[in-house]
Amino acid sequence: MDRRTLFRHLGRQAVALALARLFGAAQAQPAASPWPAGVGDPFTLGVASGVPRPDSVVIWTRLAPRPHEPGGGLPPLPLAVRWELAEDEGFSTGLRRGEFIAVPEHAHSLHVEVGGLASARPYFYRFIAGGAVSEAGRTRTAPAEDAPVARLRLALASCQHYEQGWYAAHAEIAARDLDFVLFVGDYIYESSNARYRVRPHEGPVPQTLDAYRARHATYKLDADLRAAHAAHPWILTWDDHEVENDYAGDASPSGLDAAAFLRRRTAAYQAYFEHLPVSPSIAPQGAAMRIHDHFRWGRLAELWTLDGRQHRSVQACGGGTPGGRAVTGCEALADPARTVFGAAQERWLAEGLARSARPWKLVAQGSQLSPGGIATPALARRIHSDGWDGYPRARERLLDAIAAANAAGGNTLVLGGDVHRHVAANLRQRPDDPRSPVVAAEFVCTSISSRGLSDTLMAAIRASNPDLLHARSDERGYALLEVTPQAAHCEMRGTPHPAQPGAALHTQARFAVEAGRPGVARD
Ligand code: FE
Ligand code: CA
Repeated sequence: MDRRTLFRHLGRQAVALALARLFGAAQAQPAASPWPAGVGDPFTLGVASGVPRPDSVVIWTRLAPRPHEPGGGLPPLPLAVRWELAEDEGFSTGLRRGEFIAVPEHAHSLHVEVGGLASARPYFYRFIAGGAVSEAGRTRTAPAEDAPVARLRLALASCQHYEQGWYAAHAEIAARDLDFVLFVGDYIYESSNARYRVRPHEGPVPQTLDAYRARHATYKLDADLRAAHAAHPWILTWDDHEVENDYAGDASPSGLDAAAFLRRRTAAYQAYFEHLPVSPSIAPQGAAMRIHDHFRWGRLAELWTLDGRQHRSVQACGGGTPGGRAVTGCEALADPARTVFGAAQERWLAEGLARSARPWKLVAQGSQLSPGGIATPALARRIHSDGWDGYPRARERLLDAIAAANAAGGNTLVLGGDVHRHVAANLRQRPDDPRSPVVAAEFVCTSISSRGLSDTLMAAIRASNPDLLHARSDERGYALLEVTPQAAHCEMRGTPHPAQPGAALHTQARFAVEAGRPGVARD
């Protein structure tokens, strides 16, 4: 299929999807090739769902009988897949179904936005192709926007280096009763570290579309990760390792020029799109993909998921080389033009926060917002230039927007990942100024499997930052967040044994935030 035929084809799919939203069933699509004989089970990568709205969800799979081969073990032909979604596990009540033509240009992945659904209820879905039936996934729609909601419960997760540990956290997440999983970045890792390898990636650092596809396939071949996808809808944003560690916009730490790096980013974003249950409407356009999004959860909460990589300014004081490093006394940090979200996304978030009348505002992004630098004898702080400490003016603008939104009532929780430690922190409008008011609470989840900083460094970070009420990097896990009209509770789950398959998690700490009172209390 050439590009123009593909676009016509995708255009027809968009029309079919729009009709599916109207009528709750897919309409006729173009003819597919006959199913190739003898290729085997196409559902090795499992099933997933995401983008829960009051009347719709996105269901996902990718056909790949041999996922580490180019083409996933399928010929480069359009292939028909049936999808089914029902109110019960037996697929007998309220059955909706349709057909989707999976195309090789998108690695035979499917993103079907099923509309016309009832709010705040579970649904079950599965796929049928080539005589094989996938496992059934369970998903859940969001509450109606004007519905009172007694409780929102989510798992906050990030940073799942495949080589550095087993996914015991995902096994536990899969067994929980949750509204959704909120994954805030480092879904795959492009790089390796020989020191902590408990199981190998399939190949070297990916640079091409096929190599990024193979890397995503490696992660999806983990049964615990597949189980967490099959059990709950996911809401996702990304951080850096989905493309390359510490990249910022079009700036690459590995020495590629902007044009070459944008070609690599194009491949990485496309593979990301093809392997995750995101909306079909955000399919990448070249090197650009809009991952940031906004969700309402009845009258209880609003959630913003933010992109801190695609529009970011390059790290300061790197001597012309992009990437994070420890810096002290870096004057360029004060430049107000430096940004993490980019001007358009910053404005969109500030306006959304200002308009929000719901009591809980959840701001989900890729890293730790609260300061994490280390005081040095010269009284200058040493900070890591890739974190929010490296973008202090952008952080002030975000905290100003949060303070302004709080003035209209409600309470803000900032949620993040990236730093491989459980963190509970008070966020002051002017960080590092003890006279400045606390305007929000922050919870950062530790990594699912990626290894953390040493105890020595963590002790120095805690001693240098009194607003960090909790910061521990020694365990792997995730955070459970439960939000009610009265309070938000965060339970930090972890295990010190990521190299043990099936490790049991325990509760490392609990914190709470009372409605209408910014900041963290012990629970
Ligand atoms: Fe990470
Ligand atoms: Ca990261």
